[in-house]
Amino acid sequence: MNAELPDILSWRKGSSAQPVDWEKLRNDFPILQRQVNGHPLAYLDNAASAQKPWQVKEAEQALYDQYYANVHRGVHTLSQEGTNAFEEARAWVASFINAPEKEEVIFTKGTTDGINLLAYTFGLDYLKPGDEILLTGMEHHANIVPWQLAARRTGAVIKVVPVLDNGTLDLESFDKLLSEKTKLLSMVWVSNSLGTINPVDYMVPKAKSLGVPVLLDAAQAAPHMAIDVQALDIDFLVFSAHKVIGPTGFGVLYGKRSWLDMLPPFMGGGDMIDQVRFEETTFNALPHKFEAGTPHISGAIGFCAALKYLAQIGMDRVAAREQELGELCRTKLREAFPKLRFIGEATERVAVVSFLLGEAHPYDVGFILDKEGVAVRTGHHCCQPLMDRFRVPGTVRASFAFYNTKSEIDQLIAALAKAQKMLLP
Ligand code: PLP
Repeated sequence: MNAELPDILSWRKGSSAQPVDWEKLRNDFPILQRQVNGHPLAYLDNAASAQKPWQVKEAEQALYDQYYANVHRGVHTLSQEGTNAFEEARAWVASFINAPEKEEVIFTKGTTDGINLLAYTFGLDYLKPGDEILLTGMEHHANIVPWQLAARRTGAVIKVVPVLDNGTLDLESFDKLLSEKTKLLSMVWVSNSLGTINPVDYMVPKAKSLGVPVLLDAAQAAPHMAIDVQALDIDFLVFSAHKVIGPTGFGVLYGKRSWLDMLPPFMGGGDMIDQVRFEETTFNALPHKFEAGTPHISGAIGFCAALKYLAQIGMDRVAAREQELGELCRTKLREAFPKLRFIGEATERVAVVSFLLGEAHPYDVGFILDKEGVAVRTGHHCCQPLMDRFRVPGTVRASFAFYNTKSEIDQLIAALAKAQKMLLP
């Protein structure tokens, strides 16, 4: 791998030895300066999508102003420069997740796209009637529905690891559900609804010991921690750039070369081919085999800038900052609202705080919070089976990024006090 790229330890520690000035860093995110409904914006919907620093937009602007052309195709200077920048992004992603080879990094449209790619390749080619796909009860719909579609076409069966009352996985059930019938463990690493960090250090080796391949949905892990796919020894990992302060419509599928070489292509078209004849087509080498058509060039360039930004701070500092905010938020909510009920109280968790305020409907709470400038998510968070498990229609979810502040927590508390007054007896 390119010697200039950070190694896994540098990703954790960050390249800048200076302490991070979190307040000052907010200036990199122009949107955080705006007002909403006459109040300063308190953006606490980061699990849905993160805000972008100007460095990401500037990198994309530079592409369009200075060297835009299609990639992988032209001999001319612009195409060469564009291709170099595009492939530099791949190297940065490989470094970010500590992939052994950058060719194992496939660019996708996002987490959903990556899982569908696997459902239509691994799923349709490797699953047989009676084979089991093991999911967990806290999956996002993106890691349920593609497998249901694959199961419907192959006769495979979906099994689900139950969720306990505190929002952790029932590991005893997991041990029992994992068997020689299991052909894939596909699970969320960090729950977008509960904030739970699942014990992948326990679960992945268990699966591997039975020869079961593992796909990790890292949509909510990638924004908060340094990822080491080699240490985890997972087969596949997916995430979306837009949750990691990068552009929308862009994402990553990591796969072990041994798998990616074996799997059939997903989409057909330009760039993914070696030779096309009407009689037969042969396919390109990795990663291009899985990247049909003109890719999201600006997405890759913007995401590379996002990763460079995070590499300076270091993911351990990102995690510590968010942890502090998340725990403070929980403490203040607990103190201020005796009628508040947290959904998800795992001890291993990220700064995602899901709750219900008495009998108040989450939408009503979210609506009032918005009037006070506080942006939170309300609803089922694309986890309807999990909401059914907790017998709730949805939750209010405040989710933090490193650029949030303690005063935004106070703003949330004050706005919730208003909501309580209006909605509860
Ligand atoms: N998985 C999890 C855990 C998520 O939180 C999300 C998005 O909220 C997704 C999958 C889907 O991501 P995307 O819509 O970017 O494809």
